[in-house]
Amino acid sequence: MSATYDDVLRFIQSFQVVVAENKDYLTKLDAAIGDADHGINMDRGMKAVVAKIDGHPPGDIGSLFKTVGMALVSSVGGAAGPLYGTLFIQFGTALGGKSEMDLSDWSAAVEAGVKGLQMRGKAEPEDKTMIDAWIPARDALTGAVGEGLGLGEGLKRSASAAEEGMTATIPLVARKGRASYLGDRSAGHQDPGATSTYLLLKCAAETWNTE
Ligand code: ADP
Ligand code: MG
Repeated sequence: MSATYDDVLRFIQSFQVVVAENKDYLTKLDAAIGDADHGINMDRGMKAVVAKIDGHPPGDIGSLFKTVGMALVSSVGGAAGPLYGTLFIQFGTALGGKSEMDLSDWSAAVEAGVKGLQMRGKAEPEDKTMIDAWIPARDALTGAVGEGLGLGEGLKRSASAAEEGMTATIPLVARKGRASYLGDRSAGHQDPGATSTYLLLKCAAETWNTE
């Protein structure tokens, strides 16, 4: 009931493929309330990540996540690059030195990541950002740890919670990021960053389903 270094590596590679497949979809969502580049940004970032981690020394999940975060920060302009970069760097710090992680390790990493994300972006729930997917996912993980569930079940719950959070961004009026420039006109559209967050957590649930 734990994920190994190889599982984490497979997750990153598979997320790159998911992002590439959803590049147009994410960009279309961003066209409605932003500047039509979220899919392009994420695709460029994940391609840079995969190139960078090729040959990463195996074993340390923490250092792998840090490498991912740094590749995102240095390859993606726009809000999402530094935000996802911060998130992955925080995962890396929380998982430093680990070659395997269980649900409580991953839950602690997500908690640290979300904290970093909020320190950097200053977004609160219902501002219509990726935070609206990350916070319910984090809470689902904490709840699953409290119930003594395994990694696979915890991941499934966090992906569903992120999906609900993503859908719940539709009626919201954006208060952070580019979409906030639209004011009330941002309502009625799903947030692109909350959508890529759901895709990430769904991908984790699928690749770390070790039970
Ligand atoms: P940009 O907005 O610079 O064009 P992207 O289009 O790649 O960058 O990313 C937009 C997404 O970033 C939004 O959909 C939102 O989820 C997220 N975002 C923007 N600002 C913030 C913030 N301050 N905190 C959290 N997430 C944010
Ligand atoms: Mg954009």
